[in-house]
Amino acid sequence: MNLPGGSRRDAEDAGRFFAQSGRTWTSQMVQMYQFFLEGHGMSVAAKKKTAVVVGTGAGGAMMAKELQGRYQVTILEKGGEFRPFSLSVERMAKLRPSGLFFDERMIRMLIPNMLVEKTRDMIMVRGIGLGGTTTLATGNAVRYDGALRQIGIDLDEQFDELYQELPITTDHQKHWTKTTRKMFRLFERMGLDPVVTPKLMDADQCIGCGHCAIGCRHDAKWDTRQLVDEAVSFGAELMTGTEVTDLEITGRQVSAVHARTVRGKRVFHPDLVVLAAGGLGTPVILERSGIVCRKTLFADPVLCVAGPLEGLRQDRQLLMPFISQQDGYILAPYMDYLSFFFNKDWRLPMRDMASIMIKLADEEKAASAGKGFTSR
Ligand SMILES: Cc1cc2nc3c(=O)[nH]c(=O)nc-3n(C[C@H](O)[C@H](O)[C@H](O)COP(=O)(O)OP(=O)(O)OC[C@H]3O[C@@H](n4cnc5c(N)ncnc54)[C@H](O)[C@@H]3O)c2cc1C
Repeated sequence: MNLPGGSRRDAEDAGRFFAQSGRTWTSQMVQMYQFFLEGHGMSVAAKKKTAVVVGTGAGGAMMAKELQGRYQVTILEKGGEFRPFSLSVERMAKLRPSGLFFDERMIRMLIPNMLVEKTRDMIMVRGIGLGGTTTLATGNAVRYDGALRQIGIDLDEQFDELYQELPITTDHQKHWTKTTRKMFRLFERMGLDPVVTPKLMDADQCIGCGHCAIGCRHDAKWDTRQLVDEAVSFGAELMTGTEVTDLEITGRQVSAVHARTVRGKRVFHPDLVVLAAGGLGTPVILERSGIVCRKTLFADPVLCVAGPLEGLRQDRQLLMPFISQQDGYILAPYMDYLSFFFNKDWRLPMRDMASIMIKLADEEKAASAGKGFTSR
C-alpha cells in the first residue's frame, strides 16, 4: 500500500490522500483500518485476501479500483499501453485510391489497440489494451436503463454514485463549431428533438479534432485508464501483455487462473476472480474453462450514412455532440473512420461529407462460439 506509517503527520497525509482519492466510503474505511494496522507495525499483506481482475475496460478497471484495499488486486490485461492514432488523416486518405485499405481488419496497422473481427454481415470493433474499449468509445454518458427498470432492476443508487465520481458534462456545447450548431438546428426543425449529449470529458481540453473514437490525444476524453492508475496508486499490481486463457475449476470454485505472457505461462491462485474481458472476450475464456455460454449476444449495431456537403468540415467536430432518440434507434452526427477508409463508396474527402450515425436497438440473435462472436 502506498501509504506512510504511523506518525500524526502521516495520519494527516493519509486523511488528505483519502479526501483526494474519490473512493467510495466503504473502501476508504477499509483502507483507513489497514493504515491503522500498518501504523502499529502489523502486517496487512499477510492478512489480505487476493483478487485477480481480468481486463481494464469499463468493468475491470472500476472493479480493480473498488476492490484494491479490501483485496490485494492483480490486474491482468491482454494488451499493452493504448496508443492513439497519431498520423495525419488527410495524408493517409491520399492512399485510399491505391487500394491499400481493402479489409477493415487492417485498421490495426493504423490503430494497434483497435481489434476488428468480421462476420458475414457485420464488423465488430473493440479495444484491446489498457482502458479496453473505453479508449475508442465516443465518451457518451447516456443513461438507457429504462428496460431494466421495467423488469424490476433499479439502478438509481449506482448511477448516482457514477455521476458523483465521473466527469460527466454537457459543457462541450460552448465549444461547438458553426457546423455542429447548424446541424442541431436542422434536427430541431425536422422535429427530431435533439438533446446535447452528456460526455465523459474535460470540455476545456477538447480542441474539436474529431478523433474521439481513434484515441483522444488532448486528455479531454475520460477513459478507464484513470481508474487503473488509481487502483495502482492504491497498491494494485498491473500486468499488461498477459492474456488469460482459461480458469481451473474445482467443484464450484475457481481454483486457478491460467495466463500466457511473452515470457511463458503464469498461474494465479487468488481468493476472488473478476472476469471482465468484454462481451466478446469473456465468453471465450468461459468456454475454454468448460462453462458453456448461451449462443446469444446483445450487440450495438451501428450504420453510418454519409452524403456530399462541400466544405462542411464535420471531421473537425466532437463525435456525437447531440443525439436524437427515436423508437428503436438513435441518430447523431458521427464521422466514421472505418467507413471512410474501408468503404469504397466513401470516396470524397472527409471535409466535404456529412455523416449521420444510426444506432439500432438490437435483439438477442447473434451467436457466440469458441473463438468469439461468429455469425448473425
Ligand atoms: C466504437 C465504440 C464506441 C463506443 N462508444 C460508447 C459511448 O460513447 N458510451 C458508452 O457508454 N459506451 C460506448 N461504447 C461501448 C463501451 O465501450 C463498452 O460497452 C465498454 O467498454 C465495455 O466494457 P467491458 O469492460 O465489458 O469491455 P472492454 O472495455 O472491451 O474491456 C475488455 C478488456 O479485457 C481485455 N481482454 C480481453 N480478452 C482478454 C484476456 N483473454 N485476458 C486478459 N485481458 C483480456 C481487453 O484488452 C480489454 O482491456 C462504445 C463501443 C465502441 C466499440
